[in-house]
Amino acid sequence: MVLVYLNGEFVPQAEARISVDDRGFLFADGVYEVVRVYDGRPFLMDAHLRRMRQGLHALRIGDPGVDGLAAIAERLLDENRLRSGDATIYIQITRGAAPRAHVFPPAGTPPTVYVAAKPFQPHPPEYHRDGVAALTVPDMRWSRCDIKSVSLLANVLAKQAAKEAGAFEALFVRDGIVLEGSHSNVFAVYDGALVTYPACNYILNGITRQKVFDLAGQLGIPVVEAPIPLDRLFTASEVFLSGTTTEIMPVTRVDGREIGDGRPGPVTQRLQRAYRESI
Ligand code: PMP
Repeated sequence: MVLVYLNGEFVPQAEARISVDDRGFLFADGVYEVVRVYDGRPFLMDAHLRRMRQGLHALRIGDPGVDGLAAIAERLLDENRLRSGDATIYIQITRGAAPRAHVFPPAGTPPTVYVAAKPFQPHPPEYHRDGVAALTVPDMRWSRCDIKSVSLLANVLAKQAAKEAGAFEALFVRDGIVLEGSHSNVFAVYDGALVTYPACNYILNGITRQKVFDLAGQLGIPVVEAPIPLDRLFTASEVFLSGTTTEIMPVTRVDGREIGDGRPGPVTQRLQRAYRESI
């Protein structure tokens, strides 16, 4: 029996109920986080919760107690016997339930808070070892991609297009610039330096992206935040993705074209090792 947390209570998942008036259901009016758990220990939880607070603030949803979520996650890991192996914590907060109207619900409407801990099936090891393919797609999202909103329709369609093309990830391209993946950030390597799109309203500033910055600093690898035009992506010596479940993933083909020599490069591999060691 899987136990989840919903609005102040720990309940069997099969008994967890939200209202059909929930604004998450009706308007995708909420934010979420996914936290990776390695051997029972949540990784970078504080950074995820900080981003969640920022998202709630940006959407003007009152903080329903983000400070208490780490302890709730810990209890779910215990109750669901996830203290070994791979897991994820999923957290979603919506603006709560109220009769459908675009305007905010009456003051005092409590946000809906949902937390689940689930086993995670890691990607096949060869993905990280040999690299994966990516597909580019036009970015048709809104212009507040810095908010980790549950409104993920464009991301869903992009990832499905990638899957149908036999690729691991879809890369969003806006005005000829490669921004990020459907669920990951994108880095390219030129002359040994990392280039990635600047943190602004057009991308989610990934927690793993920020970790890559830290690790690159420790390894003496320069990082430049700058736009990467799509035609320039193909001239990179290496390309990789970063993300909570993606970790650091080499990309060896984009739109069927080989990147570099078609194999994961040394800069990506150094970062992958450093990432593993930091867990
Ligand atoms: N961009 C998008 C659009 C994402 O959905 C994600 C995954 N949440 C990322 C980037 C990577 O973010 P993180 O490293 O925090 O998982």
